[in-house]
Amino acid sequence: MIIVPEAACPALLSLEDAFEPVEQVFAAMARGDAENFPVVREALGGAEEALYGFKGGYDRAGETLGLKAGGYWPHNLERRNITNHQSTVYLFDPATGRPTAMIGGNYLTAARTAASSAVSIKHLARADSKVLGMIGAGHQAAFQLRAALRQRAFERVIGWNLHPEMLARLADVAKEAGLPFEEVDLDRLGQEADVIVSITSSFAPILKAAQVKPGTHIACMGTDTKGKQEVEAALLARATVFTDEVAQSVTIGEAQHAIAEGLITEAAINPIGAVINGTHPGRSSAEEITLFDGTGVGLQDLAVAAKVVELAKTAGKAIEVEV
Ligand code: NAD
Repeated sequence: MIIVPEAACPALLSLEDAFEPVEQVFAAMARGDAENFPVVREALGGAEEALYGFKGGYDRAGETLGLKAGGYWPHNLERRNITNHQSTVYLFDPATGRPTAMIGGNYLTAARTAASSAVSIKHLARADSKVLGMIGAGHQAAFQLRAALRQRAFERVIGWNLHPEMLARLADVAKEAGLPFEEVDLDRLGQEADVIVSITSSFAPILKAAQVKPGTHIACMGTDTKGKQEVEAALLARATVFTDEVAQSVTIGEAQHAIAEGLITEAAINPIGAVINGTHPGRSSAEEITLFDGTGVGLQDLAVAAKVVELAKTAGKAIEVEV
């Protein structure tokens, strides 16, 4: 099997490299060619209070079978100076069941999540979008911003975060891209942004339906667990809603609240893969609000993991071991 260590992944796989595998696997999911397996997530308890689980799947079209194992160790940073999020991806040969690769999954998670909102912007945002609005300024926000900036000819970036001191991270990424960055309140963010990406750990709505102007595309990326919420449920009722996987959207995604409140039905939520495949027309007018509920699926991890293995082989950086 091939081993690609965590430390090797950023140099091998750029955010551009992650885009196509994620776009393709969303398309395969919508065609019924790829399935995510039920997610396992368990609290380990004890002194480390860790959450551990598996996200697996099988993509027949991409011939990718495997899982991401890992989770969240809340005391890693303070106790060991290593990141709290820890994951590893394992790939298997679907024809034989033999393991084919083991890949560090931390950077891959950031890259596949950034690719997800970028795919939604490519397929759903207005072509003339000029202002990108960011809600959230944590680790993942910098990745989302970098990938989003490649999708349209944005002229400026505006941002809001519960902890404003973290916004310097976004200003640095905008500067790298030669764009101005400005901290704004949520009213201004909603009125000025053509595209909004939210990526926070919020458990209460941040952005309200009335704050968003017609024609906006919103990618809600932070809500990946029951109880989390980034936008008012009424915003989903005002928008046309798209997602990576409908089953996750209604249970652990942003749509869980609008569904629980009876504001939208499951049938009204569209897989983004249908837009990629051309079986859903996507945005229907310049005034329509589109909202992508990016919940994060195992098949995204497998898709970028397979890509990094390919890139490692090409670059002569793949470590081969017999198991
Ligand atoms: P982080 O800890 O680095 O940053 C957290 C962000 O949320 C910061 O901007 C912080 O200011 C903000 N925040 C914290 N508490 C808040 C609150 N109560 N209300 C509003 N904002 C709050 O985390 P990260 O790595 O940037 O990840 C952000 C979120 O994205 C996490 O919730 C994570 O679970 C989620 N995530 C989702 C996917 C996916 O595929 N959908 C993938 C990775 C991460």
